This record gives sequence, C-alpha cells and structure tokens, in this order.
Amino acid sequence: MNQEGLRKDWDTYFMDIAYMVSTRSQCSRRHVGSVLVQGKKLLGTAYNGAPMGVPDCSEAGCMIVEEYELKQTEGQEEMVKKQRCIRTIHAEQNLLLFTDRIDREGSTVYVTDQPCWTCANMLANSGVKEIVYHRGYPKDSEKVQQLMQHKGLLFRCLSGYQPPEQTLMNVIS
Ligand SMILES: [Zn+2]
Ligand SMILES: [Zn+2]
Repeated sequence: MNQEGLRKDWDTYFMDIAYMVSTRSQCSRRHVGSVLVQGKKLLGTAYNGAPMGVPDCSEAGCMIVEEYELKQTEGQEEMVKKQRCIRTIHAEQNLLLFTDRIDREGSTVYVTDQPCWTCANMLANSGVKEIVYHRGYPKDSEKVQQLMQHKGLLFRCLSGYQPPEQTLMNVIS
C-alpha cells in the first residue's frame, strides 16, 4: 500500500475523533461523542454527560427510566420495555451548548450514534447542514430521516467504518 492508501479519508478522520471523544463519557449505558467540523477544521467536541459540577453516572449511578416502546418485527407490533439513562445531556446537545451559532452555519456534525429525535430536532435548527453518524438508533430512525429530508439536511451513515478498537467500551444495553 502506498502512503496515500494508508492515509485516512476525512470521514474516517473525524469519526475517529468522535469515538475518541466518546471515551470521556461516564455513563455506563451509552458512550456518545460528537464533533463540529467547518470545512476541514475542528471547531468543537462533546460527549454525553451530566451538567458540570453535578455528580455523573460513575458517581451517582445512572438515572434509569423505564418506557414501553412499540417495536415492529416482521409486520408484528409489540410493546417492549426499555430502560434509558436520563442523567446525561446528550453529546449533540452539549455540542450545541459549547459552540457558537456563527461557527455552525453550513457545518458538519460527526456523531458516533444516530441522533435521537430531540437531538435531531435541535440540530435541524442549529445551522448545521450535514450530519454523519455510525451506529444506528432504530427507535427514532424513521421520523429523524423524514425530518432531515424535510429540512434538506444531508444525513449519512458511515457504513463499513471501523471505530478505533481502544475507543469501544463495554456498555450495558
Ligand atoms: Zn448513565
Ligand atoms: Zn439525543
């Protein structure tokens, strides 16, 4: 392989950084990282976590809520009980809290996981023009895809991408 072949493309480069950032998360259920990119310039990084100065999941434990979700399997609808940790501010929301609107206009967000409905809704109003994610989030996928289409935002899954091995942590699912 020549040097050009070994060199990471930009998608891989920024998604690797998002995964690196996700390792800062203290929630034992989810490690999500996101980065803001303008042109080829990194303008912000964020992960899911409790507000600053407030005990996080590693100190206070996850704050679990149980919800029933409608799941479709082979045309059958089924209610499944799911647990979620609500202690953290999501990575995408933290990214919006710690970046400036002017930096976000026309920018790209790389995020390790497909945004949930609330994050997608906020991103759609944030000036960001493109969202690139890796792992899927089936629960909200359909309505999020529709929103992105409606808003004219580029919404891409990096299929075939392999995260750096040291960034994958054990999580309870
Ligand atoms: Zn947690
Ligand atoms: Zn979210």
